[in-house]
Amino acid sequence: MLTQNQLAGLLERQQQPAYRATQILDWIYKKRASSWDEMSNLPESLREILAEQYPLRPLKHTLTKGSADTTRKFLLELADKRYVETVLIPASPALYGEKSDRHTLCVSSQVGCAYGCKFCASGLDGFSRNLTAAEIVSQIILVEELSGEKVNNLVFMGMGEPLANFSNLCEALEIITAEWGLQIGARRITISTSGLVPQIKKLADFPRQIRLAISLHGPDDETRDKIMPVNRKFPVDELFEALRTWNLKKNQKITLEYILIDGVNAEPEHAYILAKRAASLKAKVNLIPYNTVDGLEWKRPSDTACLRFKNILSKAGVSATLRLEKGHDIDAACGQLRLKKEKEKL
Ligand code: SF4
Repeated sequence: MLTQNQLAGLLERQQQPAYRATQILDWIYKKRASSWDEMSNLPESLREILAEQYPLRPLKHTLTKGSADTTRKFLLELADKRYVETVLIPASPALYGEKSDRHTLCVSSQVGCAYGCKFCASGLDGFSRNLTAAEIVSQIILVEELSGEKVNNLVFMGMGEPLANFSNLCEALEIITAEWGLQIGARRITISTSGLVPQIKKLADFPRQIRLAISLHGPDDETRDKIMPVNRKFPVDELFEALRTWNLKKNQKITLEYILIDGVNAEPEHAYILAKRAASLKAKVNLIPYNTVDGLEWKRPSDTACLRFKNILSKAGVSATLRLEKGHDIDAACGQLRLKKEKEKL
């Protein structure tokens, strides 16, 4: 997978005319060629050089869980026999009276994760490596091939901390949003982060209107420290200062993700602090009742407690969503399917 600039440099080194770049980009991203041999208008010698250096399908499909009308989880094998997973969320039926035409793909950005958020299975086995831009983009291309559906909404909420893989993320975003690339609108792309302050400020300068979601899960340091180890490095006040910088540069509402965990962060006093913080940013809040993860001991609060929490936010004028349906059926928390597969290998 290549960007326009990388391709231009490569063609120059091979003393090839510049128009070859347009031909090749067209084959890769529009015609979705799966091998360099298919590119019949390129000289054979050039195809051989490219095939040696740039595999067009760096991921191999291993397993799908779920069905066409539910969330589908794809387990994909990398060239070094590691695994990542990608989740396709179908267009939702009439939701609040409005039918959504979105086919959302949740992509991974790393193998494993070093950040160890306490609710998440991805961190249980630690961090292995960053995904390359090609491996990130290939998740979209492969899932579109497997499902026959066009992905038109993208969330970086799969395995890994996308902002810890910053340069590959930006390269992938360039390919995903470009006219010559996958042409997914920047406003339909959400980067979700545990809160890496320097990278949030840097990403605010990315020249497209991408969206940002923060895994907040605690409105103050005392609560957030229990859930997000990253908070010790970048405490809540510093994080919100970075989010204000984001707001100044981007014309998109930030989303604060908040998993409700019984006895940890779901009391009314947490809701009051969260309401104040969210209002200061004009941010939306997405409330997610906790899903049980094998090996972790936390519990989901009662539906009544979840609704009470949401009502406190709504009364304070904060836009908040709460989905009470459960997602246990296909290991919906990130990283779980891949962990099972890794354990089978042992
Ligand atoms: S929630 Fe994200 S940043 Fe936190 S451990 Fe899981 S993958 Fe890593």
